[in-house]
Amino acid sequence: MSAPLFEKVALIGIGLIGSSLARVLRRDHPKTRIAACARRPETLDAVRRLDLADDITDDPAIAVAGADLVVLATPLSAYANIGRCIAPALRDGAIVTDVGSVKTIVIRELGPTLPPHVHFVPGHPVAGTEHSGPESGFAELFRDRWCILTPPPETEPAATAKVRALWESAGMRLAEMPADHHDKVLAMTSHLPHLIAYTIVGTATDLEDDLKSEVIAFSAGGFRDFTRIAASDPTMWRDIFLANREAVLEMLQRYSEDLTALQRAIRRGEGDTLYDWFAHTRAIRRSIIEAKQA
Ligand code: NAP
Repeated sequence: MSAPLFEKVALIGIGLIGSSLARVLRRDHPKTRIAACARRPETLDAVRRLDLADDITDDPAIAVAGADLVVLATPLSAYANIGRCIAPALRDGAIVTDVGSVKTIVIRELGPTLPPHVHFVPGHPVAGTEHSGPESGFAELFRDRWCILTPPPETEPAATAKVRALWESAGMRLAEMPADHHDKVLAMTSHLPHLIAYTIVGTATDLEDDLKSEVIAFSAGGFRDFTRIAASDPTMWRDIFLANREAVLEMLQRYSEDLTALQRAIRRGEGDTLYDWFAHTRAIRRSIIEAKQA
């Protein structure tokens, strides 16, 4: 029997993403011991009931003791405090990674809290749903999705390779890039679409009452998809927009210029402009389907 990839994995935060990873470990790495940490008793009870971990605690320092892999899977705003709390308890040579949706802030705020005897491999499994908590996780969440690692230049390649191997075993495709590049790409592909969804659903809510009930009744015409995205966890998304402020504002600026161009085309009755734009975006949708990311 080959040795497990990791002997003990500590999951700090075990909601949608942390519990999905726990399920992958249970399924594919049964010899790996799992320690889970969350704050609320109801979350810890759910983890116990679902048998997602061997050790369950609300103290991150207890969870990481002896772990050769530590995965932060809480909202981003908790990272710096967790880093300070776990630093003295981290074992020599442990790998510290995370799943946060913004990466420059992780390097800026978590990195400096970690002692020099651990390896730091920030990561982002680009997979999710609008649900939260340990009950909402599932092992197949990661299959065929991308996982982006953003190790700082000083990180040992062997540590990055072990984190790669973990996410590959979950069925993910792996990419590496600098953290600031990750944050620009995700500002466009994930953060801006969420902002638009939050805006549209908010605007509809402001409509006078009779129109609002019809908006909900006839929501199949596109609005329903926005409501699903806008149901995403408010704490997580508050943290994402604050953490990726500059890149989001840059993409928002470009987006509002394009919106103004379409607004002008509609006002002027420029059908060709509208048609060309929509034909172009339809082709992009086809290429996403061909890349199996739909
Ligand atoms: P989630 O379902 O809300 O779970 C968050 C977990 O973190 C819970 O177990 C929560 O415990 C714990 N937690 C919160 N604050 C904590 C603190 N101060 N100390 C210790 N534990 C704390 O969240 P999620 O969707 O898994 O997201 C987690 C991370 O993954 C975020 O950084 C997010 O950016 C990233 N991410 C999310 C998605 C997505 O689509 N959801 C996709 C990719 C990456 P309690 O229940 O006890 O509060």
